[in-house]
Amino acid sequence: MTAKTDMPNINEKNAEGIKPEGVPYRVLVVDDSMFIAKQLGQIFTSEGFEVADTAADGAQGVEKYKALHPNVDLVTLDITMPVMDGVSALEKILEFDKGANIIMVSALGKEDVVKKCLLMGAKSYIVKPLDRKKVLERVVSVLKR
Ligand SMILES: [Mg+2]
Repeated sequence: MTAKTDMPNINEKNAEGIKPEGVPYRVLVVDDSMFIAKQLGQIFTSEGFEVADTAADGAQGVEKYKALHPNVDLVTLDITMPVMDGVSALEKILEFDKGANIIMVSALGKEDVVKKCLLMGAKSYIVKPLDRKKVLERVVSVLKR
């Protein structure tokens, strides 16, 4: 049996992805894994968020953030990616916008890198495998702070 809280609630007025003024929060998903990007996209859209764009490496992520700015509210940033990793992309995005809401997406066992990212200015982190409830908890805590 599935608990009610595990079900997408896009039709409820209080979906977490909707801003108080009634428009969705816009998220940029940066991940070289199509599987993870798709999973995050599903979690976000099921809660009313809008996936503004996706990027498959850090360099693309930085470029897309700049193109979307200021019309982007949150970035999920994978750590291990080709071309430019998440740590460098974090640095570049924060150079451009020091108030950027960036959440690192990390594999298990990368505590040192995650800690470094948090010290650099990432607002939070998510550990894979992704847990819907935890993803939304972290995202909401960053957006509402
Ligand atoms: Mg990766």
